[in-house]
Amino acid sequence: MGAGPGDPGLITVRGRDLLATADVVLHDALSHPALLDLCASGAELRDVGKRGGSKNPTQDWITSQLIELARAGRQVVRLKGGDPLLFARGAEEALALAEAGILFEIVPGVSSPVAASAYAGIPMTHRDLSSSVTFITGSDREGKTWSPDAWKRLATATETICVLMGMQRIDAICRAIIEGGRSPSTPAAVVMWAGRPAQRVVTAPLGEIAEAAQRAGLSNPALIVVGDVVSLREPLRWFDRQPLFGRRLLVPRPRHQAVGTAEAIRRRAAEPIILPTIEIRPAADPEALRAAARRVSDYDFCLFTSANGVDCFFEALGQMSLDARAFGRCKVGAIGPKTAEALVPHGIRADLTAAEFVGESLAQAILDIGGVRRVLIPRARVAREQLPELLRQGGVTVDVVSAYETRPAGSEQKQRLQALIADNEVDVVLFTSSSTVDSMVEMLGPDAPALLSRVTLASIGPITSATAARRGLEVAVTAETYTVEGLLDALEKHYATELS
Ligand code: SAH
Repeated sequence: MGAGPGDPGLITVRGRDLLATADVVLHDALSHPALLDLCASGAELRDVGKRGGSKNPTQDWITSQLIELARAGRQVVRLKGGDPLLFARGAEEALALAEAGILFEIVPGVSSPVAASAYAGIPMTHRDLSSSVTFITGSDREGKTWSPDAWKRLATATETICVLMGMQRIDAICRAIIEGGRSPSTPAAVVMWAGRPAQRVVTAPLGEIAEAAQRAGLSNPALIVVGDVVSLREPLRWFDRQPLFGRRLLVPRPRHQAVGTAEAIRRRAAEPIILPTIEIRPAADPEALRAAARRVSDYDFCLFTSANGVDCFFEALGQMSLDARAFGRCKVGAIGPKTAEALVPHGIRADLTAAEFVGESLAQAILDIGGVRRVLIPRARVAREQLPELLRQGGVTVDVVSAYETRPAGSEQKQRLQALIADNEVDVVLFTSSSTVDSMVEMLGPDAPALLSRVTLASIGPITSATAARRGLEVAVTAETYTVEGLLDALEKHYATELS
């Protein structure tokens, strides 16, 4: 199966479906790690890019694993960067399977030249500039030494030349193409990590491209593109022109809660770094939660203030073999769209979602309805008191039950975070709640304000920003709409003005 070149969104629909049902996935270095999140939780993931520290597992070893696993009746996906048949050994692996009598399917992928075409804005062909393209490898075949002769013949036989695996001898390759009759002033480019936030593109005339790329420190995985089509890059480039392109955004959330945020970040050409700073733990008194859940139909409204609260509440219902019907006549409110969304898989559509994503407006909305007498709020053990207090002031009887607890993550995450910041591997920290601010500060200790002064701090809303300020942190960007998209919009605006 082809994994595509970088952006995990470029996997095919077929590929995504098969990953979701695979028993075992054998992947290598060029397939994006986020694709493995598409696998079922029980799937076995084998990294065959580097085996036990040794860099190149032999092809025979990989093929024998495929055969062995298939014979054991397991559904196996062999995931390869780009397309599995273009300068990849997909054909060899499939031939071995055919010989062994094993059924297989080949799923194409977006190969790196096709991705570079789009993401670097260098179309491989163009009606006026190029009517032919050659994909060629710059690497050696075992036992055969490289010679410039074939390259000299190629130089004028095709218009666009796209070289894969050519960086080791980019100099010799360009010289051979020039000796073969191509002008040294022909536009040329090197595209490294096409389609990823780490993408880098250098353009120069053919006679100078080798030196320019080396000077810029470009290395594999990269493509060398030679031809007039390279001149279209300036007007066509879009990917690496976005304000967040290439910036590394730290998402301090548990992995399973960061998937949507990570995707939203990648869609803006930035790189998400997911680092859990809090752990979600079950409530210390699960019986109290179950008791509240059992009696939920006694309330006029049940208000959820986080997706975690929703999940833990339904977990408690499930433990008693109950489901959404337990709500009976009780209406359901949610503090924001994410919380409302979390209800849907449990069969509930919120009767009320706060217009602004803060407790105050949810309380106001409830009081505005009139006639609401009893309210249940399942939420984190430690949380803001505004929502229950405002309701009580309005004459409502409120029961708050602890649905889960949050704690700062352990020392392993702490070390990783400290290293990321110390090594300048983070550009922005996204604070998506007050608790992420608190836990981050607790993780970093007394040096937190000094360490975090080296990065741009961005907050999802005024309450989170106020928490950060109280903790001595200087927030540079606060979202106007209190959602992840709103936060990324604000961050784009911040960088766009900084750039101009
Ligand atoms: N099957 C892959 C190619 C594998 S060969 C495909 O279809 O793309 C490995 C070479 O592919 C690398 O040396 C590099 O030249 C190229 N390559 C793979 N991914 C790339 C990427 N994201 N950006 C630029 N070049 C890439």
